[in-house]
Amino acid sequence: MKTCYMCGGDVERRIVEVEGVIVKGVSVEVCTRCGEKYFNTKAATFVQKITRYVNDAKKGYLIEVFNP
Ligand SMILES: [Zn+2]
Repeated sequence: MKTCYMCGGDVERRIVEVEGVIVKGVSVEVCTRCGEKYFNTKAATFVQKITRYVNDAKKGYLIEVFNP
């Protein structure tokens, strides 16, 4: 188990969710204490793309959104 660089709390691996969209196959490590997120470079790039995609979707493009 990793520890958080910010607060020393436990860091756990989670499924990425961006703007309500579950990003399959990409995970992020999140501090359970302060909520700091640790993406690897590939995931960070991917999340940026997804965020842009979702923002485009909000402008009217069709997108499939996962509702829990
Ligand atoms: Zn932390």
